[in-house]
Order: sequence, then C-alpha cells, then structure tokens
Amino acid sequence: MHTTKPSIWVFGDYRNYFQNRVTLQLLAKANELAPKIDAEVCAVLFGHGLDEFITEYIAHGAHNVYVVEHQSLKNYGVEKYAVVMARLAKKYQPEIILVGATSFGKEFAPRVAKRLGTGLTADCIGLEITKDGLLLQIAPSFGGNLMAEIITPNHRPQMATVRPGAFQEIPHDNARRGEVIDIPLTKNLPKDRVRLINYERQPLRDQRLEDAAVVVCGGRGMGSKKKFKKLFDLAELMGGEVGGTRPVVYAGWLDPDALVGQAGKHIKPKILVSLGISGAIQHTAATNEAGFIIAVNKNPNATMMRMADVAIVADANHFCTALIKALRERIQT
Ligand SMILES: Cc1cc2nc3c(=O)[nH]c(=O)nc-3n(C[C@H](O)[C@H](O)[C@H](O)COP(=O)(O)OP(=O)(O)OC[C@H]3O[C@@H](n4cnc5c(N)ncnc54)[C@H](O)[C@@H]3O)c2cc1C
Repeated sequence: MHTTKPSIWVFGDYRNYFQNRVTLQLLAKANELAPKIDAEVCAVLFGHGLDEFITEYIAHGAHNVYVVEHQSLKNYGVEKYAVVMARLAKKYQPEIILVGATSFGKEFAPRVAKRLGTGLTADCIGLEITKDGLLLQIAPSFGGNLMAEIITPNHRPQMATVRPGAFQEIPHDNARRGEVIDIPLTKNLPKDRVRLINYERQPLRDQRLEDAAVVVCGGRGMGSKKKFKKLFDLAELMGGEVGGTRPVVYAGWLDPDALVGQAGKHIKPKILVSLGISGAIQHTAATNEAGFIIAVNKNPNATMMRMADVAIVADANHFCTALIKALRERIQT
C-alpha cells in the first residue's frame, strides 16, 4: 500500500523511449539517494495508453508510479503538464522532484517550480544527499569554469533538471514490484496556447553519441562545412559517431543534437578522436571520461593536445583525409 514516507519523484519523459533513457537514469540515481532519507522512489507520468511505460519504470526501480491518464494529455505540452505536475506535488508533497534536462524538461521544470514557489537547479551533473538530509545539486556554472553545489534549505520540493547521460540506469528487472496510483483528471486544464499541428519522429541514429564506443569530434579547426563532412566517413569506418564543438554547430556544419560539452552531450567513448579542437573547459567537461584521446591540432600547446594520450601536430583536414584513405585500404586488403 502507498505509504506516507517522503518521496523522490522522477518525471516520466517517455517520448522517443528507446533513444531517450534519461528517466531510467534518474530512477537509478533516485534509488541510490532514497535510502539516505528513508524515501520511496516514484515515477510520475501523464498521457494516454501508458501501460508499457508503467511496467518499464517499475522494472527500472520505481516503487510507486503516479499516473494521470487522459486523452487531453496524450500529446506532450509544457503548460498543461506543468499544471498537472504542480497540482499533484501540492497534494502529495514530494521531497524532491527530478526532471531530465531534455528540451521538454528544460521548459517544463521551471514552470512547475514557479507554480510551487520553490527553487530549481538546472542541468545538474551530480546529485548527493548532505549530512542534513538535503539534496545537493551539482551543476556547472560560470561558463563551466566552476562546479556549483546548490541546496534548497527552505522550500519544498527540492527540484533539479539533470543532464542526460550523467547517471547509469539500473538493469531492467521484471521481478521488481511497484504500486500504481491512478489519479483522475478532475479539474479542467488551461487552454493550450500552443497548438500542435503535426509531429515527426526524428530518425533513429545507429547509436547514441553518449553511448558510442568511438567518437570522432570536430572543431573550428576543420575549416569548412565541406571538410567537416569527412568526419562522417571517418566515424563510419571506425564504427563510431560524430560530435562537435559549439562553433561548428553555430556555423551549421553539424546538427545541434551532436554538440559535445556543457551545453550538449556528455560522452564517454573508449576512443575519442579530436580534430581541430582547442579544448575549452565547456567542451572538455563533457569528454573527461573518454578512455583514450587522439588529438590533432596545428597548435601543440592547445589544451586538447595536452589532455590527449596521443597528440599529433598536423592539419586536421589533411590528417582526416589520410586516415580515411588508410582505413579504406586496410579494409580492402
Ligand atoms: C556558457 C557557455 C557554454 C558553452 N558550451 C559549450 C559546449 O557545450 N560545447 C563546446 O564545444 N563549446 C561550448 N562553449 C564554447 C567554448 O567556450 C569554446 O569556444 C569552444 O569549445 C571552442 O570550439 P573549437 O575548439 O572548435 O574552436 P576554437 O577554440 O576556435 O579552436 C579551434 C582549434 O583548431 C585549431 N586549428 C585551427 N586550424 C587548424 C587546422 N587546419 N588543423 C588542425 N587544427 C587547427 C586551433 O589551433 C584551435 O586549437 C560554451 C561557451 C560558453 C560561454
């Protein structure tokens, strides 16, 4: 039976379910934190036809699942979802609410926090419990130069959005049991100010950048969009994925989804090939878990070169062309 224990809520963001694992990662982290404050872990999800996700969340560590199932919640909408979440939080008083820092979560969580009159730490990469039982929210600040440790001592719930890839999900276990708490939608929702006309699912990548064992990462030093394209050939030959720095995303050489860094993806490949990248902290904060780094740069003193296991002083574009040629020849022989 549902208890009156304190609870840690994880917002169930199940869109693109099999690509987007952040909810499962948060459930895992909540399971790690919960015993320290004697709390239970709850997933909270809204929508229509949710059975598959309820089962999955329980198998990944949710002790309870709060479900608001209604046709009007079928399509994700920040405003209506924020209203429903705030209503539930006022009623059930969770200690902590965790939301994945997806594009949706980044819009949704501040609205919930505002409605509840509490604080929110955005884009956390670490969460702990202090000796006083508070949620310690660890997030990059001042352009990534500092890690801020933030607590919310006076207001509840303690709220954080968390960067996808920051935590490891716990394996699916069908033997886990959880309680499902169905909550009817009794009050009307505000009229949507945004009308959904259509939606298109983004094509599935072969693998997610965050999980790729090999990442070929390019920076401004690649020189042009045309030259940057070679990285896709190189990544294919190496069985990896392509990422890049902010200037190449801003220049339109690479999809924003493949940005590596504080404002983008956190990667942990076994091999990282870094081409024409200076190594600014906002970028390297998200590459420091790479197993083996090969950096190519014209400047031997670039930070990325100093961080690398193998640092090659060369033109990144020429290096890329030569490596592609060598790998192709090797495949043919
Ligand atoms: C709040 C904030 C958030 C940010 N978030 C991110 C983020 O998430 N990700 C991110 O990447 N950046 C981020 N940035 C930007 C970051 O500070 C750097 O500006 C950026 O990472 C630099 O990208 P770069 O290395 O491609 O370019 P540059 O710093 O311009 O470096 C280019 C490098 O290429 C080398 N080079 C030039 N020509 C060649 C050649 N022909 N062959 C080989 N090497 C060559 C140069 O020696 C140089 O080292 C953020 C900045 C701020 C303020």
